This record gives sequence, C-alpha cells and structure tokens, in this order.
Amino acid sequence: MKLRHLLSAAAFFAASLPAAVPTPESYFGHPIGADRTVMDWDKVVGYFNLLAKSSNRIRVEELGKTAEGRPFIAATIADPLTLRHLDRYIAIQGRLADPRKTTPAEAEPLFSEGKTVILLTCSIHATEIASTHTAVEYAYRLLTEDTPHNRAILRDDILILVPSLNPDGVDIVTQWYRKTLGTPYEGSNPPWLYHKYVGHDNNRDWYIFSQPETRLTISRLHNVWHPQIVYDVHQMGGNAARLFVPPWLDPSEPNIDPILMQEMNMMGTAMAAAETAAGKTGIAIHGVYDFWTPSRHYQAFHAGLRLLTESASARIASPATLSADQIARTALGYDPRERSWNYLEPWLGGTWHLRDIIDYQEIAWDACLYNAAIHRDELLRNFYKVGQRQIARSDPWGFVIPANQRDPGATRKMLETLRFGQVEIGRGADGSAVIPMQQPYSGWAKALLERQAYPNDRLYPGGPPKRPYDVTANTLPLLMGVETHAVSQPVAFSGVWEPGPPAAGPLLPAADTDSWIAVNKAWAAGHSVWRDPSTGDFSLAAREGWKDVKRPRLALYQSWTANMDEGWTRWLLEQFGFAYTTVHNKDIQTSSLREKYDVLIVPDQAVASLENGMRNLPEEYTGGLGPQGADALKAFAEAGGTLVFLNNASEYAIAHLGLAARTVTPRAGRGGEEAGGERPTSGSSEFYSPGSLLNAHIDTRSPLAYGVPADIAIWSEQSPAWDTQLPAVARYPDSGVLASGWLVGERVIAGKAALIDAPVGRGRAILFGMRPQYRAQSYLTFKMFFNALIE
Ligand SMILES: [Zn+2]
Repeated sequence: MKLRHLLSAAAFFAASLPAAVPTPESYFGHPIGADRTVMDWDKVVGYFNLLAKSSNRIRVEELGKTAEGRPFIAATIADPLTLRHLDRYIAIQGRLADPRKTTPAEAEPLFSEGKTVILLTCSIHATEIASTHTAVEYAYRLLTEDTPHNRAILRDDILILVPSLNPDGVDIVTQWYRKTLGTPYEGSNPPWLYHKYVGHDNNRDWYIFSQPETRLTISRLHNVWHPQIVYDVHQMGGNAARLFVPPWLDPSEPNIDPILMQEMNMMGTAMAAAETAAGKTGIAIHGVYDFWTPSRHYQAFHAGLRLLTESASARIASPATLSADQIARTALGYDPRERSWNYLEPWLGGTWHLRDIIDYQEIAWDACLYNAAIHRDELLRNFYKVGQRQIARSDPWGFVIPANQRDPGATRKMLETLRFGQVEIGRGADGSAVIPMQQPYSGWAKALLERQAYPNDRLYPGGPPKRPYDVTANTLPLLMGVETHAVSQPVAFSGVWEPGPPAAGPLLPAADTDSWIAVNKAWAAGHSVWRDPSTGDFSLAAREGWKDVKRPRLALYQSWTANMDEGWTRWLLEQFGFAYTTVHNKDIQTSSLREKYDVLIVPDQAVASLENGMRNLPEEYTGGLGPQGADALKAFAEAGGTLVFLNNASEYAIAHLGLAARTVTPRAGRGGEEAGGERPTSGSSEFYSPGSLLNAHIDTRSPLAYGVPADIAIWSEQSPAWDTQLPAVARYPDSGVLASGWLVGERVIAGKAALIDAPVGRGRAILFGMRPQYRAQSYLTFKMFFNALIE
C-alpha cells in the first residue's frame, strides 16, 4: 500500500517535472540567425509548444486560424505565480481600463497588485523575417536565465508574445527564399503578396479589421488584456539607420492622449540608450515615422503605448554589404551620413547579417520589458488616468447616427466596426444610434467619425509637402456614406443599439450595400435578377419594364509585381460573392478574352509597371503586359468587353486605347514599402493628395451612379483627374474640394473629371480616378465599382 503510494507519487513527479528547456539551436538544427537560415511556421509553433511543455513560465495558446488556415498563436510569459492567476490580472486590467467602474480609491490597491502588460508582435510584414527568429531566442532566454534583471521582468510584467502576426507570410517568404537560394535572385521579394489578400497593407487594417489575423489580435488579445504597451517589430530599407525607435515625427493624431505620447518618447529613448550602451551604432530616434493614421495602430486610442522598431533589412536571410557611398543621402528627420542629436553614431557601411538584426532587436525588447517592469506603478496609474480623461470628454457631447439611412447595410457595418473596437453605442428613442463621448474609448470613436484636418506640413518653410508616413484621412461616415452628426448637447438614449437584419425580400435597393450580396447569392443559386433601368434597384422577381441582368464573367488582372490593390480587390469581390478569374500577362496576351469574359479589371498600378513588369526575378515572373497585351485589351473592348481601370492604371488606358482625355495631375508611381528601399521624403508642390477624401459631384443619370447620391466624397491617393469631353460620371467641384485629410493644389483638379465612362468600339473603358474599393472601407464608392462590373 505504502509502496504503491510512493510509486504513484514518484510517477506523478516524473510526469509533472518539467523537462529541460530545449535550446533553439538543438530544435532548429542551426544557430538562430545564421546566414541563409529561415524557419517554417509549423516548426516555430512546434518550438513554442515544446517550451510550454518544459517550462512553467510560459503558456501557449492557438487563438484561431489565419487567412490560409495556419494556426495563429500567442505565448504568455511571466513568473509562474503570475501565470497561475491570469484571470485575476485580466480582471485588474479591465477595472483600470474603465474608470467609470472603478473609483480612484478602488484603483489604488490595483496599482500595487497589477502587472505591466506588454503585447509584443512580430513579422506582420513577412519579408521582415528577423523578429520571428528573435521571438524564438528571446523566449528561450526569458525561460532559462536567472539574473536580477530577468527576475524583475518576470515579476512585474506579463508578456504576450505573438511570434508572427502573419504566419502565412512566414511560409510564403521562407518558401520563396529557399526556391531562389543560390540563384541570382537570392534575397529577392516574392512576386506575389505575402498575405493572401492584403500584403504589406495588413498593417493598415487596425480600424476596419477586415482580415482574420487583425480580428483575432484585437478580439482575443487587445480587448481581453488592454495592454499598457504594444510593441510591433518591423524592418525597413537597408541603406540608412540600423534601427529606428520612437519618439515619432510630427504630426500626431490629436485624439491621442499626450500622456501616452510622452510615455512613448520615454520608452523609446530608454531603448535607444540601451542600444548605445551595448555598443550598437546607427540608432535613429525621431525620424521617418509619424503618428497620424489609426490604420497602423489601435492601442494608442485604447490607453496603451505603441512602440515600433524598424531594423535595417538584410537580403531576407542573406547578408548585405554596403559601401559608404551606398548610404542614403536623405531620410525624414535625420541625415544618415551625419552625427546629430537624434542619430548620434551614424552607421556608415559594412556587412549586415540577419544575426545583427536579431542582436539589436533583443537589446530593444529587453530594454522595453525591463523599463516596463521598473516603471510598472506609473504606467498603471497613467493607464487609469488616460481613461479618466477620456470619459471626461465633453466637446462634442457625442455623435448621433440617424436610423433612416440610404444605405442600411453600410450603416450597420460602420456601427459594428466601432463596437468591435469597444465603442459603446446606445439607442435613441427614434431608433438612432447614440455614441456619447463619456466612455473610455471616446477618442477612438471621435477620430473615426470626424473629418481630419491634416496640417499643411512642408519639408522646410516654403518647400514641397512633407510625405505623410501613410494616408491622411479616415472619416468612416464619408467613406461608408453614413449620415452622422456631432452634437454638443446631451441626447437621451437607453439600452444598447442593435443592428436590424439585412435587407430581405424581392426588392433590393441599389443604395443598400446588402443588396449586392443578395444579388450575388441569387446568381450563385442560379436565379434570375431584374433591374430597374431608371434607379438601378434590383428585384428577384420579374417586373414590368425591368431588365434581366446576367451574372458578369469577370477577369481580374494580377501582375507579377505584388500589388496590394489587386489583393484588396480580390478580397472585396469575394466578400460580396462576385465570381471572378485571375488572369496573368500570358492569359491576356494569348487567349481570346472576349469569348471568356465580359469585364476585365486592372487594379491600381503605375503605367510603366503595367507595361514592363519586374526585371530581377526568375524568367517566368518578368515582363509586363507588353505591346501584345495592350493590343489584346483593346481588341477585348472593341469586341464588346468592359475594361475597368482603377486609379493610376487609368493612365494605361489613356496611353494605349487612344482615349481623348488629358491628364491634369502629375503622374505618380505607387508609394514605396518599408522594406523596399528608399521612400520619397516629399510630394509634388503642384498637386498632392496622399490618401485624402475629396468632394465630387456625381452625374446620377449614369448607370455607374445607381444607388449613389449626387454629392459624395471619393478616395484620392495621388489619383489622376482629366480634362475631357468624354462622359464624366464624377467631377470635382470648382472650389471646396477637400473633404477630409490633406490636399495641395486644389486648382489643378477643380472642375475636372474623376470618373470616365468611355466608349471603345462595341465596348467601353471605365476609368476610376480614385480607389473606389479602398482598403475595405469605401462602401459608398463600392457601389460605383460594382455598377461598372454589371452594367
Ligand atoms: Zn514593416
């Protein structure tokens, strides 16, 4: 009896005693960050699961699946005692996050008891591969090192580590890297997006939440944990600073609490100091990155700091060697060749390895976590204080969204999106939605509902416009076509606003976003659909004088130049149930297009890029449409097909279809990417619309305008405008063009055409001088895009 007890106790201990924590090198079979080594996602997941089995300082959870179905994981790392009571710490965070529920007296002991919660996220941009490697190695260190420094981190912090925000991309880039290793294309970027739909724009999704990875991160981590710090790890081009750390450049979004801005400055400079103390050079602060658009960050509107580091890139996992004269001559905010207060020790060339990136990142991570630990008390107090200041907001009192809208589907979508970001929405007596500002995330709601006044920011006094890091406008009511009012006086409301059901029944108004989904569903099920020739409204039953509309056979052009606009278009078509076929250069050049398709869509892309494509890639991915493609597109339209050109691709139509339109705006290429080399520091002084909402008049007699009112705002991103006698469905007004964001050179486009419907032979070319399907947001102009596909 006794012996059996002893035996079972021994077995119990044997089973529960953690095995030795496996080193990354023993598991992956090579030193982490060795030249030309990359990691498969299933191996990364396997390693984290192994860590969870062998240490009581870590928990690993699968939060859900990615766009392509891979596991999306997060690791929670803290002292074992903390890990045993995570529910308690989640409760503390929730209480401090909402000062309406927690008095200052109640908050006081929570400041002592709570921990600093840090969400650290890696490799959202998959070619920026280092941080997933750093995650593996740094997790191992946190679990195994026993130093006073490490103990402070484990005692006072809770680290939530996401080894990749884009696991699909880890494999996309790893597979491409292996395929090209040892060839002339070693270290190149893949010729397709590194996220199924949105590529690099996966980091522009943090207020519309369109992709599964974004939604999992917000709903399962941010909204549960309310982290005090969110640190997102990136890489940039390789020919200037080795590492960027905040402070940020101007401008900063005015609804972000200044306490958070100051704390970002504090944490950033502490991380920079740690790098310098460790002997690392090339550390830039206060450069390149501004803090304007909420599309890149969620937490600064949710009482948390956003930290960002951008490391110089190698060539994926291959080293890059730079001579002194290859160092960039310009960068925003600092001179890469000169010593200055915010770039004290310039890096002036040498060989740069993946391992170097990891070394710098580990120092930055460690400094972040250590400072989070030693400043725990004030970070928690200020977190609570930011919430107090949010709920004290009184100007405006709030926003009212009337119940009776042109587009009930888009209205529901807008309100659900706000609610996903933890905005509380009440119900007015007349069924309107009421959003009072006296709530913890009122600044978030305000930023998304108001018009942006971007400063007239110049590179130097009298100089050209300084390039914003991303776009300048994010006004959801304009993008989605939802009537919204700011109110200065309190409005009575009760309970919680709840969405009504989507439109149902035989009559489907063209103005309602939901109608388009219903129409596509009907087509997919083999039913007929009729359309009112005067209003464009749909009916699922035959009606006198209405037109029987057929499901269009759609082709979507995909270039071998990875194109985010193509990805967003694909995403949109799938969301609304449009069937389509992806076509490449060869398909266009060699097949009889008109026999197969009714409509061919060419997404936003610069003309030269459409014509010539890429050069330094394996042969099957080089070249563009070429003369043969241009002839084929023209023949397609002449034979009755519809060509739809988006934004800058419209210039291709003017060049190759002989359309009688003169472009009045300067020709623009697409903006650079972080890891894609040098970005321009300025825009054209003559005309500049770097992601802005502009007012336009619509010719509502045109079938392209079915369901759209006469005055709308359109998304302009250095978009072309035209002087033309061709039928113009949208025109800019003669004055007062800017609706939200920033516009330089209004007179260039005033009165000019922004949407052309041009006959070509028996078919037509539709030129959108805008992005009508902008980043899953522009519900108002989605309808003009959809009309182009089926009319
Ligand atoms: Zn990046």
